[in-house]
Amino acid sequence: MVFDEHGWPVDAALRCVLETVSPLGIERVPLTRARGRVLAEDLCASRDLPPSAVSMMDGYAVRSTDVATVPVGLAVTEEICAGRQPRFALAAGQCARIMTGAPLPAGADGVVRVEGSRRLSGDQVELLESASIGHHVRPQGDSMRAGDVVMQAGCELVPGAIGVLATLKVVQVRVHRLPRVAILSTGDELEALDAPVDPLKIPDANSYALMAQVQALGIEPDLLGIAPDEPVALQAALARGLEIADVLLVSGGFSVGEHDYVQQTLQALGVKQHFGRIAMRPGHPLMFGSHAGGHVFGLPGNPVSSMVCFELFVLPALRRLMGHRRVCRTEVRARLLEPIRTHPQRTEFVRVRLTRDDEGRWLARPTGAQGSALLQSMMLADGLLRAPVGAGGLAAGDEVRVHLLDQAVFRVADTFGEHT
Ligand code: AMP
Ligand code: MG
Repeated sequence: MVFDEHGWPVDAALRCVLETVSPLGIERVPLTRARGRVLAEDLCASRDLPPSAVSMMDGYAVRSTDVATVPVGLAVTEEICAGRQPRFALAAGQCARIMTGAPLPAGADGVVRVEGSRRLSGDQVELLESASIGHHVRPQGDSMRAGDVVMQAGCELVPGAIGVLATLKVVQVRVHRLPRVAILSTGDELEALDAPVDPLKIPDANSYALMAQVQALGIEPDLLGIAPDEPVALQAALARGLEIADVLLVSGGFSVGEHDYVQQTLQALGVKQHFGRIAMRPGHPLMFGSHAGGHVFGLPGNPVSSMVCFELFVLPALRRLMGHRRVCRTEVRARLLEPIRTHPQRTEFVRVRLTRDDEGRWLARPTGAQGSALLQSMMLADGLLRAPVGAGGLAAGDEVRVHLLDQAVFRVADTFGEHT
């Protein structure tokens, strides 16, 4: 595919990434470590749950015909606790005291709750409420039946799924393995986090911002540190990254500067480039390539650009490798609160803070200055507003698309008197 000098359209580039990567192989993990992973097999129930009809209330197991007219006095045969087997079947005129979760005795078909009863002397009780067939009863197999496919391959192991796995007594679960991700920053001007302050240098922010983005997916990346703008050392660092990682993230050194060697070095190491420029801002110089052992993203050096490219392209790639089906962030429609200028020929991603109006509709406000070196704009953002090519600008009140970021789903509790 050939596109103009602005590079590949965002959607075409994303399609290319998703067509290139596919889910990784399978491994077994203990249930206690499985949250966030993706199930790699269908799982069936091996028994009915509950194993028999059980009471949903503390009360009295009854024959519904006996309580058709109330109040009525009945003889109590026994007390049935959860996890215990009833000893007696109910005959006409009898009931059994029963606890929540305990199995119904033979003959019983309904439950009267304890609040609808009055204990009389000895083993007699007066029931004040009637119960139709099945009232306050969970039938056998209500949650699952033996042989049912309860979970399908591709299921994301959210907390509810972990509970279902425990119900299925799965101790070790087969999931897609996690991608190994390595992160390398490049640039002679970069100063390591633990290095003394040098007035000629700038701190390496990208390694850590990208690290955190990867960690948010449940993946612990390898930080390869900083490679200089010098071909030999750069080649050694890139070769190591390609060797150890399924996905190598390299930031910087990919522009058209004299000392931007990343592209040619990756090529020399056998990386086939799929694309190298995207018609977007920030994030124009984004490279994606593959080699026998995995994939490489050449991310822009500017910290905001590299983070935005991660959100739009790397995150979906990593989620696809993890086996997820839902790989992209959710988008919402929002009303813009301030006018903004945007690039006429490139899709522009503006960092915005989201609130809701009284009807619950999203409102988007840019997070201040939007320079691609200004990480605070990303720090404060709930979402990325996607301004289409050709607009040149947007007015206050315009309806816009916003790609939600991690923190966007949270809000201040109502008890604090705010709805934001
Ligand atoms: P480059 O893509 O190498 O031309 O870098 C573009 C801009 O991003 C330059 O101003 C760099 O100094 C800056 N930059 C590159 N890498 C990093 C990094 N790891 N942390 C912070 N800024 C960076
Ligand atoms: Mg550089």
